[in-house]
This record gives sequence, structure tokens and C-alpha cells, in this order.
Amino acid sequence: MIAANDGQPPADDLFIDRRDDPGEVPQRHHSVDVVEHGPQTQTTPTGGTDSERLLPTIGVLLSGGLDSCVLVGRLSVLGYPVQPFYVRCGLTWEPAELAAVERFLGALRAMVATVRDGAAALPCRGEKGQAARIEGEKCLVEAAPRAEIGPLVVFDQPVADLYGGHWSRTGVGVPDALSADEDVFLPGRNALLLVKPALWCAQRGITRIASAVLKGNPFADATDEFFSVFGRALALACGTPLRFLRPCAHLEKAALIRLGRSLPLELSFSCIAPIDGRHCGRCNKCAERRHAFAAAGVADRTDYACGC
Ligand SMILES: [Zn+2]
Repeated sequence: MIAANDGQPPADDLFIDRRDDPGEVPQRHHSVDVVEHGPQTQTTPTGGTDSERLLPTIGVLLSGGLDSCVLVGRLSVLGYPVQPFYVRCGLTWEPAELAAVERFLGALRAMVATVRDGAAALPCRGEKGQAARIEGEKCLVEAAPRAEIGPLVVFDQPVADLYGGHWSRTGVGVPDALSADEDVFLPGRNALLLVKPALWCAQRGITRIASAVLKGNPFADATDEFFSVFGRALALACGTPLRFLRPCAHLEKAALIRLGRSLPLELSFSCIAPIDGRHCGRCNKCAERRHAFAAAGVADRTDYACGC
């Protein structure tokens, strides 16, 4: 059982920002008040505890990168059952990425099971890469995933006919550590990723879909206007009241890492030029990852193939 906090939401409760608050779900969903008096909303498709039945299942686009892994973990920490989606487009790094998604979800589910087993103390990760033990409720309430993580649904959305000889399909000319963020642009990425998960959710009564778009994302398909217009179009197409959430839109990557520091972040995967399934350590995304960990002041336990 998850105990109440002291009546004040933790500082990072702002993870669900006001703009993307999932509607009827109260902000202070940690508290016993929410459990006792919160509105009844849809439940996880596979059941869950009494407290979970008060919160809606949220579909999440899970690429396996830091951003979406923290999003899934944090939603579970906050008590939202999560239905994860991976969209496979035929890009070179996806086999490594999908393997990382499975590993990360497995680790999260193990943490959820530990909480449900009523462990008095749960191993939490320390700042220096060593497991630390935080006794009792503090860890359980503030750091541990507790809501159910549904089975991963993998969609195929091949882009070979669109992208042709693009570096993301050939592995030739992959943007390196010195390249600009704009160089990793993948045309129509968010539009391609949203369609099938939206249709799947609409068919099953899940009305909220979240993606881990961060503050400062420079691309045209990550703007407020895009999500407003495209999300509205998808909802119209499905004939359901779908809502598209961006709970991380007020966060930069370093802040996101700090928020997810108790999660097994080393199991997430960011690389666009993996070597034998490992982070290369030299591409644009690896560089971004390393800089973000450093800026966050959180130990980077990623296994970089370069050894650098
Ligand atoms: Zn890399």
C-alpha cells in the first residue's frame, strides 16, 4: 500500500504540467484524498490495484531514449498505468533500441513488483552509481514505479519508401558529436509515430497518449501548433476524445535526468550509430546524452563502446 505524503506534493510533482494535466485527474494524486475521493476514470486493461483504478491509463510513445524512459517511469511513479508503444520504422539503430526498451521495461516491472510485494525498503540508486537503500515510505512514495506497465506494443511504420538513402537508413554520414541538433532531423517523425498508437488506443478506450517532447525541441513537428492541429485531426479521425499530452514540455534534458535519477537510466538507449548493440559514444545523440548527464550532475552509467 502506498502511504500518504505529508499533504504537500513533492517538488517534482510539477512533472505533469498544467497545460498537459490529464483533465479530471487531480494534481495531488499522491495523497490519500485522491485515493478516497478521486473521480472514477477508465482503468488499466489488465486490472490493477484499487488506487490505480482511480487514474487513467496513458499510452506512451517509448523510443527507448532517456526522455521517453523517464516519462514512462515517472508516470508509473505517480500512479498512472502505462501502455507503452514502440514504432519501428526501419532505421539502423532500432534493433539495439528495441532491445533496450525491453530491458528497461523489464527493470521497471521488477521495481513495480517489489513495491507491490510490500518491501519495507527498496534499493534505490545513489548519485555515484552505487545502490543506496532508502528506508520505507520515502523511497516507495517518491521514487519507485508502482503503477502497472502494460505489455509493449510494437508497430511497423516503414519509411524506406520515403527516406530512401537517408543516413538513418544507411548508417552512412550519421551526424557526429560536433554536428548541430538540427542535423538529426527525421522528416515527419512525430506524425509517423502518432498515427498507429492513436488508432490502437481509440479502439480500446484509452483516451490519453503522451510523448516525451522536451523544452527547446527545434523541430516543426514538436510545436504546440503541430500537436494541437494534428492531435485534433487524429481525434476526429478516430471519433473519440483523444488527448495528446506532453508532460515533459517544460523540461530540458538535464532536469529530466534529475527527475528520473532513481530509474535504471543506463538501460535507456540514445545512440544513432550503435556498435554491437552498445552506445557508440561518438554520435550526435551520444554526445547529447553525455552532456546532459554532466549538466544534471548525475552519474552516467551508460556502456559506451568507445571507452571514452
Ligand atoms: Zn552513439
